[in-house]
Amino acid sequence: MGLPWICFSAFAVCLASCLKFHGHKVIQVQLETEEHVKLIKSMDKTFNLDFWRPDSSSRIAPKMTVDFHIHANHTETILHLLKQNTVHYEVLFHDLQAGIEAQLDNSRLRKSQKHKYNKYNDWDTITDWASKMASEHSDLVRLIDIGNTYEGRPMTVLRVGQSNAEGPAIFMDCGIHAREWISPAFCQWFVRELVSGYSKNEEIKKLLTNLTFYILPVLNIDGYVYTWTEDRMWRKNRSPAEDSDCFGTDLNRNFNVSWCDIGSSDEPCTEIYCGKSAQSEEETKNVANFILSHLKSIKAYISIHAFSQMILYPYSYTYELAPNSKELIPLLDRLMTGLIHKAYNTPSPLSCGTQASVVSSSPSLRYEPPVKKLHWPSNTSPIMFSLILPNKFCYTYCILH
Ligand SMILES: [Zn+2]
Repeated sequence: MGLPWICFSAFAVCLASCLKFHGHKVIQVQLETEEHVKLIKSMDKTFNLDFWRPDSSSRIAPKMTVDFHIHANHTETILHLLKQNTVHYEVLFHDLQAGIEAQLDNSRLRKSQKHKYNKYNDWDTITDWASKMASEHSDLVRLIDIGNTYEGRPMTVLRVGQSNAEGPAIFMDCGIHAREWISPAFCQWFVRELVSGYSKNEEIKKLLTNLTFYILPVLNIDGYVYTWTEDRMWRKNRSPAEDSDCFGTDLNRNFNVSWCDIGSSDEPCTEIYCGKSAQSEEETKNVANFILSHLKSIKAYISIHAFSQMILYPYSYTYELAPNSKELIPLLDRLMTGLIHKAYNTPSPLSCGTQASVVSSSPSLRYEPPVKKLHWPSNTSPIMFSLILPNKFCYTYCILH
């Protein structure tokens, strides 16, 4: 690899201090038995594994495909232990740093920082893009400031729609988990599809005439900036925890419903830390306040994540189905089979959030304890679901979680 992306002026900080992942590996294991699960859990305790799928060792079970990232220093021991215990594994990334550098598309980055839809854009570029969308499409796009992040960055929702009236609306967030870069990229692409389709696509014109989209292109902005400047694998926000040296709350687990219950942790150093109290974080508070103040118009909440190939619908904190599931499931099923399945020719992975891991890419996965997802709005708005962008097409390109 030639000069790394960090040489670019905007990333001068990273040149000196950015975490490097030379020799780090990402491993995929197929767990068959309880012994395999115990082994991975004990390896997690010893080596502090970074789980990519599912997002913590508390959620692993026999017959499950599990992906995790391991430090270069632990590679030899971990692979030896897997072999010794007959756990089938595959190395997805032999050198994580090389993968990170490849995804940044160095040559194009060096030429300009111009916004592009087919590469990842840093936060400043996304901010400029949002302003440009509003000024170039003032008939369709308006920016709404919903408050600041912990580090003081303004959180701006793009209101996309032809009407100024408070008609039916859909709220969509991207980038609640900082390292899932394909998610903000999706939100930017989605806005582009809406505004460019308005004049040439009758369906989109109809949509934007009758419906308003509130799109938050990066929810966890501080975390996203941190993934560009310090640590590509950062997931949480950047607020410091009390009585701990660790930083960050998993904003996905900070909403005020079944807060810090199963699938979350009250340990600030974990990736699934729920925060010191429900909606303790500026980012979650801002989103919650915005939605509550538009509750009459917002009919659906969509949260875009990576990676997997699933649509999750409520609930994620209890096995009970949401009251609107009869209406919701056929709708999502149509979306999954009609569009996603057709495009990617993969099994239809539609699931209630609590059973999400059961229906990921492996048909052999089984029932497991509730998975905590961003499910707060499902108590207050009629429809809510999370779309998790595909792993199959991301692994070699996006490095996502
Ligand atoms: Zn996520």
